[in-house]
Amino acid sequence: MTGTPTGLSQAATSNRRPIETARNDFPILDQTVAGKPLVYLDNAATTQKPRRVIDSLRHYYEHDNANVHRGIHELSERATRQYESARDKVRDFINADVREEIIFVRGTTEAINLVAQSYLRPILAAGDEILITEMEHHSNIVPWQLVAEQTGARLRVAPITDSGELLLPTLAEMIGPRTRLLAVTQVSNALGSINPVADIVRLAHEQAVPVLVDGAQAVGHMPVDVRAIGCDFYAFSGHKMYGPTGIGVLYGRRDLLEKMPPWQGGGEMIRSVSFEKTEYNVLPHKFEAGTPHIAGAIGLGVAIDYIEDLGRSAIECHEQDLLAYATGALARVPGLRLVGTAPQKAAILSFLIDGLHPHDISTVLDREGVAVRAGHHCAMPLMARLGIPGTTRASLAFYNKPAEIDALVRGLLQVVAFFNRGRAGG
Ligand code: PLP
Repeated sequence: MTGTPTGLSQAATSNRRPIETARNDFPILDQTVAGKPLVYLDNAATTQKPRRVIDSLRHYYEHDNANVHRGIHELSERATRQYESARDKVRDFINADVREEIIFVRGTTEAINLVAQSYLRPILAAGDEILITEMEHHSNIVPWQLVAEQTGARLRVAPITDSGELLLPTLAEMIGPRTRLLAVTQVSNALGSINPVADIVRLAHEQAVPVLVDGAQAVGHMPVDVRAIGCDFYAFSGHKMYGPTGIGVLYGRRDLLEKMPPWQGGGEMIRSVSFEKTEYNVLPHKFEAGTPHIAGAIGLGVAIDYIEDLGRSAIECHEQDLLAYATGALARVPGLRLVGTAPQKAAILSFLIDGLHPHDISTVLDREGVAVRAGHHCAMPLMARLGIPGTTRASLAFYNKPAEIDALVRGLLQVVAFFNRGRAGG
């Protein structure tokens, strides 16, 4: 251990529940891997789950499991109450106007595909444009490419700087009369860059262009208020914010959702069906065909309660402190270069080490019990733009400790020494 981060911010220490002890809420973190204490630094891929979330899933299946909305019996009423109450929690959590604007989906990917097919496809004509940025995850690229292929529309891509900052003036110039939608990530999963989404929305709205914000890497790490951002759509995944996998949210402005056709047909999304004609259900059910991930939604609601108990500003402050500590600590590794050094950054550290392949780095780290990710991070066009095949990425959550960052650095120093010895030995 090389020390602790200096100046842990006030908000991080004087909060309702101390963040430092919250780590104990995550049973999975208390284990060894390869005989070493697990150091889990792959939180951008998925976060771990607090006991409360795990218990809520078990409790639901042990006591309340039934299908929602349709049953006139006690269990179904309980399941429905909890499922719909999770929707209210999500509404509050992101400050949406009304609960009808909260659509439960499988995750960010499904939310974006829903908007591409249900909102955009019906209004796109050949030559229309969809504007994204160079730092998007494949989930915020491929759905737009699909709908562009289906309609003859064109994908345009706003550039970033070498340090991973969006070039706002160029983005503004690229919003034009043919732009039908702008889709942008709030936080880059590969670089950590935080985009000024409220400013971007303002620029787009000046030209009457709606905006979808990919909030996958933001919503569990900082306060998010969709009305303050002003976006038209906001997408996120439960599993990246301490909730279950297989559940996520599409927020959409009510007036837009009302006009959009359903994107999947089936049970639940209908009001009446005959062979001649089907009448669709009201929002939000119009977009929730079939039996939903009931336990997942309930677990997501509990994850929200958990995050709110800690306080999102406190989480953000704490993670910023960890980021500052990790940035300083990594500087001690010879030949290490950070990829993504935007001034506004979340606690994601992508890096290269001279002469070493990211996969080799992560394989050696795994033997030390340190879990990081290596590769293109589902952002191949971004890697191509930066002229690199991939990076090693350490992504932090509030439950990480400075001692774990020290373990990462120790592991990296060993990796460098190991490969240097190999080279010297011919
Ligand atoms: N967008 C970003 C920025 C992400 O980091 C991810 C996942 O890593 C996604 C979208 C896709 O999320 P999911 O796989 O949960 O749908």
